[in-house]
Amino acid sequence: MRTQGELTLETDRRHLMHPGTHASDHASGQLDVRLMTRATGIRIEDHAGRSYIDAFAGLYCVNIGYGREEMADAIAAQTRQLSFYHTYAGFSNDPAVELSRRLIEEWAPPGMKKVFYGMSGSDANETQIKLAWYYNNVLGRPRKKKIIARQRSYHGSGIATGSLTGQPKFHAGFDLPMQQVLHTASPDFYRDARPGASEAEFVADCVEHLEQLIAREGAGTIAAFFGEPVMGSGGIVPPPAGYWPAIQAVLKRHDILFAVDEVVCGFGRLGSRTGSEHYGLEPDLMSVAKGLTSGYLPLSGVIVSERVWDVIERGSREQGAMNHGWTYSGHPVCAAAALTNLDIIEREQLVRHAADVGAYFQTRLHEEFDAHPLVGNVRGVGMLAALELMADKTERRPFPAALKASQRVAQAALARGLIVRALGTNDIVGFAPPLVATRADIDEIVAITRHALHDAGDGLSVS
Ligand SMILES: *Cc1c(COP(=O)(O)O)cnc(C)c1O
Repeated sequence: MRTQGELTLETDRRHLMHPGTHASDHASGQLDVRLMTRATGIRIEDHAGRSYIDAFAGLYCVNIGYGREEMADAIAAQTRQLSFYHTYAGFSNDPAVELSRRLIEEWAPPGMKKVFYGMSGSDANETQIKLAWYYNNVLGRPRKKKIIARQRSYHGSGIATGSLTGQPKFHAGFDLPMQQVLHTASPDFYRDARPGASEAEFVADCVEHLEQLIAREGAGTIAAFFGEPVMGSGGIVPPPAGYWPAIQAVLKRHDILFAVDEVVCGFGRLGSRTGSEHYGLEPDLMSVAKGLTSGYLPLSGVIVSERVWDVIERGSREQGAMNHGWTYSGHPVCAAAALTNLDIIEREQLVRHAADVGAYFQTRLHEEFDAHPLVGNVRGVGMLAALELMADKTERRPFPAALKASQRVAQAALARGLIVRALGTNDIVGFAPPLVATRADIDEIVAITRHALHDAGDGLSVS
């Protein structure tokens, strides 16, 4: 007799199309399917009753941890009171209004004015691109439309946002990137700096690369520059010291909008309210999602600066309403979930907690893995961290891609009850635990990771 769980797995293989998943390995059973059934705090369980520490907070989103009664209550109460109404043409609702006030007054950096809501990080970035184009059309600069993003960045998976994403694997097979999108150097000091270059020299090289791209294309053709304060899915790459001030100066000089993608960094991940606050960024537009609701419901926002807003308002006087929006923009139940999520983050001081436990996390990772033979680089900020694996760390020789070194480590961790994530195009093992994780949880994460590296090590001897 097959169990209910096994029958469900069969049906999954037959009918469910998964994101980013090898279709034939999934259908054939080559790829394990795990039904996730329940979760509380930082722990999640599957259909076989196996329990895992989720050291990736879902996908960097479950900042307050799983299974909060208070979230369930807030979502249920709002569903009973007003389950949905749209926010087009002047209709509004209490949770969306209050959330906008709190985002602007309490969470966003200075100079921000309005919030436009969507359902995902991808649609938020899509909105940012349209706002940047609209802005330049209102200003009478119809040629200023190209968008610069960075190699290895991740900005989503739509047609425009998948184009921004600077990873070839997201372009192959889809005729992307679209021609208006350009890519400049990634801020990956460990992998991309010239041998012997200092951080300052590497920053100068990144600036030079950007300046040359702008000169080649003409500043009059470039609308916006997209950046994650700390690169996320491209490999968890914190910027080298001095990187953001230098890049921001270039953008200002060429009148290029700074579109900040805070989808990972927002709401405490770095131990600060936002990545913009952390690095002193002055966004013209910023995207938030993931940690905004801790993943309890889908919600994203584009936070628009006064500077951009003034032009949008002028556009409406000259051209009428801007016809951009989604059915679920300002969804009252999603906004209610976000409000309660922010209540919890504020009441439990999770931003400060993330700074504190995050510093401990970074220290522990360095202590355990700086000298580890498989680990070439340990890096991160706050509750976001990565180990980059190397076949030969002295010579910085990577593993052959076919070995799937980082996937092997993630699999070995999974077998030991820990979820970490293999990231990017290089062999990077990423961590982004829920912000509620304690020092004891961090110790457990680090200890299991050490065992997982050991388990995977046998299959990785290449020399
Ligand atoms: C996840 C992510 C996105 C896309 O968000 P979706 O909700 O998956 O569309 C965009 N930017 C960054 C930095 C992300 O990590």
